[in-house]
Amino acid sequence: MNIHEYQAKQIFAKYGVPTPRGIVANTPEQAFLNAQELGGNIWVVKAQIHAGGRGLGGGVKLAKSLEEVKTLASEILGMQLVTHQTGPEGKLVQKVYIEEGADIKDELYLGVVLDRAKEMPVIMASTEGGMEIEKVAEETPEKIVKVAVDPAIGFQGFHGRELLFGLGITDKVEQKNFLKFAKALYNVYMDNDAEMIEINPLIKTGAGEFLALDGKMGFDDSALGRHPDIEDMRDISEEDPDEREASRYGLSYVSLDGEIGCMVNGAGLAMGTMDTINYMGGTPANFLDVGGSANAETVAKGFEIILKNPNVKAIFVNIFGGIVRCDRIANGILEATKLTDVHVPVIVRLDGTNAPEAAEILKNAGIENVIAATDLADGAAKAVAAAKGE
Ligand code: ADP
Ligand code: MG
Repeated sequence: MNIHEYQAKQIFAKYGVPTPRGIVANTPEQAFLNAQELGGNIWVVKAQIHAGGRGLGGGVKLAKSLEEVKTLASEILGMQLVTHQTGPEGKLVQKVYIEEGADIKDELYLGVVLDRAKEMPVIMASTEGGMEIEKVAEETPEKIVKVAVDPAIGFQGFHGRELLFGLGITDKVEQKNFLKFAKALYNVYMDNDAEMIEINPLIKTGAGEFLALDGKMGFDDSALGRHPDIEDMRDISEEDPDEREASRYGLSYVSLDGEIGCMVNGAGLAMGTMDTINYMGGTPANFLDVGGSANAETVAKGFEIILKNPNVKAIFVNIFGGIVRCDRIANGILEATKLTDVHVPVIVRLDGTNAPEAAEILKNAGIENVIAATDLADGAAKAVAAAKGE
């Protein structure tokens, strides 16, 4: 689960990670009042969506008067903000964060992510803040310092010194400020079961202080049960409604932009199926793992979710029956054709436990849209051909 910048900054503040002061608003009038309450003479109006790159997309603007705050807020609220992370359709802005303008001397990058190979959180820092970190990683990887922290010992002085050295921070006061910042950020990460925190940019002010100018946080969904305060920060409007519905039925669904709907059991087979579709010249419309406990109901639900996507021109069902029995899947397909209008060809490859029974069920049902496939390659080829209308 991800949260908004203003929410991440609320958590930062609790742990003593310094941020500029700010107040969130839903209307231009409220934005005006927020700026008035913050005081000062420069404010930044920031679109709150679950995506980065807002500045370049026109979602972060500087205002030099209270009236300008109001005008900018009215322009940004309600806009369909397109950034490199939203996809071409963009995201609707429903909230703006009004923040005091900061005195930026230097822009750095600081993040914490889980390194699954090392089985430890890794703090990443770079002097190249404000830019896309992916680009820095690709073009000048030596400019990113990575420090793994063993959770058994926590953040220690030597971790901090490695970061200071990598960032070239030599001034004594700045060193002290930075160490305090990094340690507090590590605590935010650990205490809240975060999966990632990204501060880009982390700024150094003219006074040598460090401030989180931006804040992104993602959490481990499986740990949300112990963080009701974070669960409360969930913004459903930012999440894909189909993915949420799928998760209610125990289906792992991720929508993609291709044409062939996929229904597969097991994440590995699902990835392999998508690769094979690509190899055969087609494009998958989704990732869907029906899981090990798939039954007629979940399969029918899977069809319903896949078919909501108007780009879907064919559906490829690729199930290898182990714990999942193929006859149950076959019944699920029948159920689906009764419950929803399956208006595209369905290519079915069922193999493993009870495959012959499944073939019999489908044959006897005589559904016109169903095409049988013998193996993965055959199924993928038939799905690609069907999607092309061949
Ligand atoms: P995003 O990463 O989504 O584009 P940021 O929060 O990083 O959004 O803001 C983009 C840029 O806007 C920053 O790199 C910074 O230059 C400027 N900016 C953001 N917040 C402030 C602020 N409070 N004061 C001054 N400049 C800001
Ligand atoms: Mg940013």
